[in-house]
Amino acid sequence: MLYLGYHLSSVNGFEAMGREAIEAGANTFAFFTRNPRGGKAKAIDPDDAAALMTLLEENNFGKLVAHAPYTLNPCSDKQNVREFAKICMEDDMQRMEFLPGHYYNFHPGSHVGQGVDAGIEMITGLLNDIIKPEQSTIVLLETMSGKGSEVGGRFEEIAAIIEGVKLKEKIGVCMDSCHISDAGYDIINDLDGVLGEFNRVVGLDYLKALHINDSKNPPGSHKDRHACIGEGELGLDVIGRFINHPKLAGLPCILETPNEFEGYQREIELLRSWTPR
Ligand code: FE
Ligand code: FE
Ligand code: ZN
Repeated sequence: MLYLGYHLSSVNGFEAMGREAIEAGANTFAFFTRNPRGGKAKAIDPDDAAALMTLLEENNFGKLVAHAPYTLNPCSDKQNVREFAKICMEDDMQRMEFLPGHYYNFHPGSHVGQGVDAGIEMITGLLNDIIKPEQSTIVLLETMSGKGSEVGGRFEEIAAIIEGVKLKEKIGVCMDSCHISDAGYDIINDLDGVLGEFNRVVGLDYLKALHINDSKNPPGSHKDRHACIGEGELGLDVIGRFINHPKLAGLPCILETPNEFEGYQREIELLRSWTPR
């Protein structure tokens, strides 16, 4: 089963997201747990969350992949910025329990000159503070493009963060096709090699979700500019092979392409109808 969806807006609540996803032909989706800029989150309506859970079950959805605000920086050089990331993510862990058993993805952050090792230590510290044994949510580290001082552009960095996390059954990885290509992993010519390397360095068991984006830039550019499917440097066939790879079967695939509803609906249809040439 191919679980495909896209990042949609939570302004109208949980059940509305589920209904929109179904209309678009999706069977998974992503959403921001709060204002993407990291502000205060609106209160959760438990009935609305329960209505979504029923809808997901009735329509055989895969796991959802909630996204933390992208402005949080768990490895900032400023203590108050790190503290803010911790407060938001701690609160998000509680909010996620209204949708038990789904995924929560975040960007590891930028070490802003403190060095990768210092960054990794701060990230693991934060994760060990917020991840509780009783939670049902798995927290996913997103693979990054390695732009600026971003941590998580190398599989080794992802592995080092996981290494430091105590509750390993609550941690996983979300692999972003645009980011890994921009980071220099050659999924255009050697997808098997890249997945083999991920397996050696991190372990494919930790891979829980995929972000499906074409890239405006060539491999190794460290830019992180998403393109619509088939309109970037990766192209439709590379992405088709990626989401249909036997080692990645059953993972939720989330589009974060520059689209509105109709565009996502079209891309989902395009990807579902793709066959290898
Ligand atoms: Fe992301
Ligand atoms: Fe992403
Ligand atoms: Zn990105």
